[in-house]
Amino acid sequence: MSYKEVLERTIKEIHDELPKNSEISKIEFEGPEVAVYSRNPRVLVDDETIVKELAKRLRKRVVIRSDPEVRLPKDETIFVVNELVGKEGEITTIDFDELVGEVIIEALKPGVIIGKSGEMLRSIIAKTLWRPRVMRTPPIESRVIKTIRHLYQENSKKRQEILKVIGHRIHRPIIYRDDTIRVTALGGFAEVGRSCSLLQTGESSILIDCGINVGSNSPNNTFPRFDLPEFDVEKLDAVVISHAHLDHSGFVPYLFKYGYNGAVYTTRPTRDLMTMLQIDYLDVANKEGKTLPYEKKDIIESVLHTIVLDYGEVTDISPDIRLTFHNAGHIVGSAIPHLHVGEGVYNLAFAQDIKFAKSNLLDAANSRFPRLETLFIESTYGKPQDILPPRVECEKQLRNIILDSIKKGGKVLIPVLAVGRAQEILVVLEGLMRNGELPNIPVYTDGMIREASAITTAHPEFLSKALRERIFHAGQNPFLAEQIKQIASMEERELVMHGDPAIIVATSGMLNGGPSVMYFKALCQDPRNALVFVSYQGKGTLGSKIQKGITEIQVVENGKTVMYHIEMAIHSITGFTGHSDRKELESYIHKVTPKPERVIVIHGEESKVSKFASWIYKNTKRESLAPPNGTTIRLR
Ligand SMILES: [Zn+2]
Repeated sequence: MSYKEVLERTIKEIHDELPKNSEISKIEFEGPEVAVYSRNPRVLVDDETIVKELAKRLRKRVVIRSDPEVRLPKDETIFVVNELVGKEGEITTIDFDELVGEVIIEALKPGVIIGKSGEMLRSIIAKTLWRPRVMRTPPIESRVIKTIRHLYQENSKKRQEILKVIGHRIHRPIIYRDDTIRVTALGGFAEVGRSCSLLQTGESSILIDCGINVGSNSPNNTFPRFDLPEFDVEKLDAVVISHAHLDHSGFVPYLFKYGYNGAVYTTRPTRDLMTMLQIDYLDVANKEGKTLPYEKKDIIESVLHTIVLDYGEVTDISPDIRLTFHNAGHIVGSAIPHLHVGEGVYNLAFAQDIKFAKSNLLDAANSRFPRLETLFIESTYGKPQDILPPRVECEKQLRNIILDSIKKGGKVLIPVLAVGRAQEILVVLEGLMRNGELPNIPVYTDGMIREASAITTAHPEFLSKALRERIFHAGQNPFLAEQIKQIASMEERELVMHGDPAIIVATSGMLNGGPSVMYFKALCQDPRNALVFVSYQGKGTLGSKIQKGITEIQVVENGKTVMYHIEMAIHSITGFTGHSDRKELESYIHKVTPKPERVIVIHGEESKVSKFASWIYKNTKRESLAPPNGTTIRLR
């Protein structure tokens, strides 16, 4: 059966199933969804069971859209929405997504707009034929989210074409060439950085993560192994991104530069955060005079090809693969991708970068899957000795370091990744000051931290319940505490470096570029100051060298070699990490259900992956592997 026949059969089924007065005008595969355009969508929206039944029958995601011709003009829609909602809802902005026929309403009181059991929403649809998407106005405005929204508005036609092409590819008829399932290690195997796995079935070819090793100095170790014969960008069906950190998402735009035109699947927070980090990566690399692997226009292509999914949403991403994201507990929006091959043929999950414990920001990683034959698991802290102290201990330790340093009149520098650890540390510092355990001294953030906090708080549904409630409670939002100030210029930076005692939370997290290095150079020769590492320091980075105890560093500045003697106190507090420690990894292996037949250990230094893999074999009697990059593993 050809693609056209598949589409025609689906269309016929939908026409037969839906009531005649729904006046269907067009049915199209748009990305993984079947979009049904109706001139009378009220019929379908009022009785949701009709669409649910249809989706179940087709085993596809069905969305109802109003035919663009029957939608009320935008200005009139804005008027009607304001009229219906009144002042009470405190609407702050009204935007449109023409492609999907949505009116996006941001308000301070979203409950008013939703109304009693969705009454207000139904009135809005009935009067305007736009489907309302209601959101609480984010407490901090995000530039990146605004840019992405405008990008979609301006490129609505183009995006529709893109989704059609993707839909075409997903719903093509299956021609099985063979029934083997293989994974090729393109990056992040027996190492940390440039995570990238290639999953190949008889029918499809999927990339899981596509990262850059930002700590690496040699191009050979920086990017995924796209030179391997197994990889062919032309044959790629889909790209799945677990979370926004550059070692998992930084190389995605490169694929578009070299002709990829398929989808990138991820969660909404990951889309926003990875776009921010990719733009920042280009800016930093540009300033350092490095060759750029891609340009801004490739990032835009990547955004236009991105399809966002919620946790638990089952989606076809190729003719024989279904994807579901589960919470990974690592950073906001981070996911464990679960892939289901064929009709019940095989299941695999990629637990890369997981935190199997509650943090200030997130719930613990999910460990229950409907089915599971092969589990990939990280091992950043995979050595038996990698047992991290409890959070309370770490908070105490941090408090003592800060108290000690400010008593001497010094400053405390905390290098962090903009996304994840930065927010975790800010919540901790705000808490210590609120409880009176620390005096109210300024906390300066530098780098992309404020923007990352803005994106984080714009997606409250992805955060832990306690934090979600605080974010919207006046005076309770930890990210808006008055002590926290974002540095916006070089002058401000200078003032902080030479000013009174303060805490500085700055990127990058491993001191490999960015403002944290400038602060380090300004503060390192004064013994009153302290440097606190709160996250993993990649091999070869300045952070890792300092952690290992070097006492001086040489830097070339304006053509001259300058020597810095490290006099400041150096501390490492590992317990704030977004990764699981060895104990949590072991507990994950014990608790994951169902029990996988095989575990593949990834994302850890060579000695850690192999040690953890042998522990798994000894304790579970399941096959366990720790292959290096370049290996192809036949799963079936
Ligand atoms: Zn990560």
